[in-house]
Amino acid sequence: MSKKKDEQSTLLSRLPSVDEILKGPEGSAWLRSFPRAIVLQAVRDVIAGERQKILDGKKPGSSLAKLLPDIAGQIRALSSYNLMQVINATGIVLHTNLGRAVLSERALENVLAVSRGYSNLEYDLEAGKRGKRHVHTGRILRQLLGAEDALIVNNNAAAVFLSLNTLAKDREVIVSRGELVEIGGSFRVPDVMTASGAILREIGTTNKTHLHDYSGAVSEKTGLILKVHQSNYKVIGFTEDVPISELVRLGNDQGVPVMYDLGSGNLIDLKPYGIHTEPSVQEILRSGVDIITFSGDKLLGGPQGGIIVGKKDLIERIRKNPLARAVRVDKMTIAAFEATLMEYLDPDEAMKNIPVLNMLFQPVESLRIRARKLAAGLRKQGSPAAISVIKDVSKAGGGSLPDATFDTYAVSIVPLNISVNDLEKRLRSGSRPVIARIREDALLLDARTVRNNEIPLLVEIVSTALSKA
Ligand SMILES: *Cc1c(COP(=O)(O)O)cnc(C)c1O
Repeated sequence: MSKKKDEQSTLLSRLPSVDEILKGPEGSAWLRSFPRAIVLQAVRDVIAGERQKILDGKKPGSSLAKLLPDIAGQIRALSSYNLMQVINATGIVLHTNLGRAVLSERALENVLAVSRGYSNLEYDLEAGKRGKRHVHTGRILRQLLGAEDALIVNNNAAAVFLSLNTLAKDREVIVSRGELVEIGGSFRVPDVMTASGAILREIGTTNKTHLHDYSGAVSEKTGLILKVHQSNYKVIGFTEDVPISELVRLGNDQGVPVMYDLGSGNLIDLKPYGIHTEPSVQEILRSGVDIITFSGDKLLGGPQGGIIVGKKDLIERIRKNPLARAVRVDKMTIAAFEATLMEYLDPDEAMKNIPVLNMLFQPVESLRIRARKLAAGLRKQGSPAAISVIKDVSKAGGGSLPDATFDTYAVSIVPLNISVNDLEKRLRSGSRPVIARIREDALLLDARTVRNNEIPLLVEIVSTALSKA
């Protein structure tokens, strides 16, 4: 045996055993406070890590005393939830990676109320017999939107898929080349089309599509005319697309249904808030379009879901598709939707109470005040960093309002003792992770997505991260 191998086996033989650790005072204390399976797993994980270090020729840390903190850390990690609350300091309100829409208090309360006990999910209280789960959100959607009928499924991707599969399987769907979009997470219009069994009939060019492109493509093979919201990009310059009202006229003339995948989809007129490019779902419905699909957790500010609204006979066919069962929503989603949608009965209340709308359209002055408060809190801790409040811009995110920017204020932190990358990493590794942006040598905490009640905790987390050597 070589000298190196010899050394390795000596080191390996010195590793403490699982039993030894469990029988020690720390081991016994852990076993009293945590499930045995977790303690066992943590001890094994740490020993395995040490063993691997030795085999890789790295120096192990390995006296028992040195391993104990690692094991304690691993126990904490294994016994806390993997999916957890984070502080979003990116300023991006609809951050797809951070759970998109924050739910309203009213939605959360209703989820609790409905899930804590039994509910009339599929029970008709008046008739005293089996009912249908879609009636709960159907009522408020018809009232708010003036739609003939509505259906909610698992997400907008499912809404598009199910609608295409029901209305255009083995038939052609006419789409402009300027609208063959890819949204994040591999939702691509051509791929969804193929998977649904519909046949893509592309027309026009990337920048221009005319009404005659659509009318020239209609044939006995046509199942649907589809318009897709560009969501996350914008073609600018020499461009043309056909308004939904003209597509509806063409569809009516030719007896072909027209569907609009609206992506986000706002229920409030956003013109008073400076957004002139996004007509509301109600406005688009008034064009006479047959089917509109949109997300529940983008601008609407509700739970994940896909809303299909439109003509009664078509919605009924979509509902009867056997695949509808595969993408149906559960009671928690329905409860959150009904409560979120109820807020829209009074648009001013919706702006106040739905976090997505509130965060997007809050006055810039209140963002400045919040940023100053955060900066003042950090300065008071005397953290080793240069702290200032800066003006900045943020985006809506989540493929919503691609051409809108929102003025905002952020706290800029230049750490003095550690690198800005280290600071960013520390912030996202804690028990309440903070997600922030780096620009040049500063870490930015955008006030737009930080809630007022998170400020004391955020101050504590950031100053602790800055102070550690
Ligand atoms: C976001 C989006 C989708 C997918 O919606 P999900 O609710 O995320 O499944 C589909 N189409 C368009 C145009 C979108 O913007």
